[in-house]
Amino acid sequence: MDAGAVVFPRKPTRRIMVGDVPVGGGAPITVQSMTITKTADAEATLQQIYGLAAAGADIVRCTCNEPEAAEGLARIVPRSPVPIVADIHHNYRRALEALEAGVHCLRLNPGNIRRPEHIKAVAQEAKDRGVPIRIGVNGGSLDEDLYRRYGNQVTPEAMVASALQEIAYFEEVDFDLIKISVKASNVPLMIEAYRQLSEVTDHPLHLGVTEAGPPPAGIVKATAGIATLLAEGIGDTIRYSLTSDPVDEARLGRVLLESYGLRERKNVDLIACPSCGRAEIDVYKVAQEAQDAFADRQIPLQVAVMGCVVNGPGEARDADLGIAAGNKRGHLFVKGTNVAVVPEDEMVSTLVEWAEFITREGMEAAMERAKATRDVARKAADEDRRRNLDDRGDDANATERLVELLRKQRS
Ligand code: SF4
Repeated sequence: MDAGAVVFPRKPTRRIMVGDVPVGGGAPITVQSMTITKTADAEATLQQIYGLAAAGADIVRCTCNEPEAAEGLARIVPRSPVPIVADIHHNYRRALEALEAGVHCLRLNPGNIRRPEHIKAVAQEAKDRGVPIRIGVNGGSLDEDLYRRYGNQVTPEAMVASALQEIAYFEEVDFDLIKISVKASNVPLMIEAYRQLSEVTDHPLHLGVTEAGPPPAGIVKATAGIATLLAEGIGDTIRYSLTSDPVDEARLGRVLLESYGLRERKNVDLIACPSCGRAEIDVYKVAQEAQDAFADRQIPLQVAVMGCVVNGPGEARDADLGIAAGNKRGHLFVKGTNVAVVPEDEMVSTLVEWAEFITREGMEAAMERAKATRDVARKAADEDRRRNLDDRGDDANATERLVELLRKQRS
């Protein structure tokens, strides 16, 4: 089945513009990440922003925690390849300075800036400049009053109430360029808070599991929260919050959206078989080499690395191209058709070369190119398939022997 035929209907939201990037209102879901440099160091921060943009970030957030950070933002914004969001902590003056520096969006945490007159002053200034604000509710820094009101615990209801209270302040100055997040490190809490929030507001939602931690557990937690909501049609922009290189955050966000069919594919989608008793190569090693070789190359194809030519081309027939191991050689196939045979140590470089060719010239041109080699390739694949079956039989994983053994033990 063509996975692209399955779509998750999205809940309608209003649209805001973060610089020139639309968020909400049916716009493509965007990926965000955050720099970890000192914002005052404009050159180092810009270098990181460029890295994040190359890895798939559409919008980047920088902290604005000191007057020097606001000065850094003034230097960063005109040279940034993507819109910049200023993250404001406790001092509303930093928000006013960030707006003056030209940022494209602010992020305020209602738990940190509490005085209504300060919130309204920021909203008024943002309104005058047409700059949106993210209301970033965080389970770990929930407003004390709300915490007490909801039984001295962080509940989805308390988080939603915090967001609504902040929206009410903004409405008093007639400001509605808002997006909202209700993040928590507890995945079920975060999921339920967003579900409830999406029932009571049509402002665009920014999804994330805060402080998810280092990989791999952090990736699993962030994906569990974000992916569950996306599948329910909730969410307009996402961020993986990992204790890891922020480039990983941007890449993962992009991979999640591409795998859900919510963004067009930009980089290679590498698939690989899990290996088994029939494998003719170290599949893990070759798949890792292929992953490194493709890295951030902009090749929007699904590419397969398969351990044997007996089942590889068939199991990966939906991939755009792939390579399956034979008798010390690699069998390249395009859309399930064998097109070339190469020595084992050229498997990865051949895969990259053909992937680049298809991206540049198109699939039809690749098939045309294959005409010269496909007969030889098919014959070689048949030979290696037969050889593998002769050597390892039909039961390369010895499953039938195990079944026999289990039966004997039972009798
Ligand atoms: S049968 Fe071949 S392609 Fe399938 S898992 Fe085993 S080695 Fe990989």
